[in-house]
Amino acid sequence: MQVYVEKPKCTGCAHCFDVCPVAVFEMKDRSSPDANNDVAPDNEKWKGQTLPDVKAKWENVQDGHNHFHEKYEGGSGGLSVAVQGSACILCQACLIECEGECIVITDDTNNVYRSVYK
Ligand code: SF4
Ligand code: SF4
Repeated sequence: MQVYVEKPKCTGCAHCFDVCPVAVFEMKDRSSPDANNDVAPDNEKWKGQTLPDVKAKWENVQDGHNHFHEKYEGGSGGLSVAVQGSACILCQACLIECEGECIVITDDTNNVYRSVYK
């Protein structure tokens, strides 16, 4: 299994980190040298910019999460990095919880699963 996060869409809500039963995700500060430590293709790596439409949709939502904050503050903020995609068991919990709709999973026979927020 391969898992990556499309970083320009990640709000930092940390839902993926919270729901994944096998610790595929870690939250990193946006300026961390580890912010791109998953298998995201080059155009989906973190280069310091969030997609404007994602930011407009979430930046003023008051749901108890820090959106687009530089640092992970223990509950939200920062960016999600799929550091251990090989552990994924395809439970799909993250795929329905991802605010940014930015998680991509490819299984061993090349089926691709993308997150759609519930
Ligand atoms: S689908 Fe994979 S990455 Fe997502 S929550 Fe389940 S085990 Fe974790
Ligand atoms: S659930 Fe999606 S938007 Fe939220 S931190 Fe994880 S990858 Fe980013």
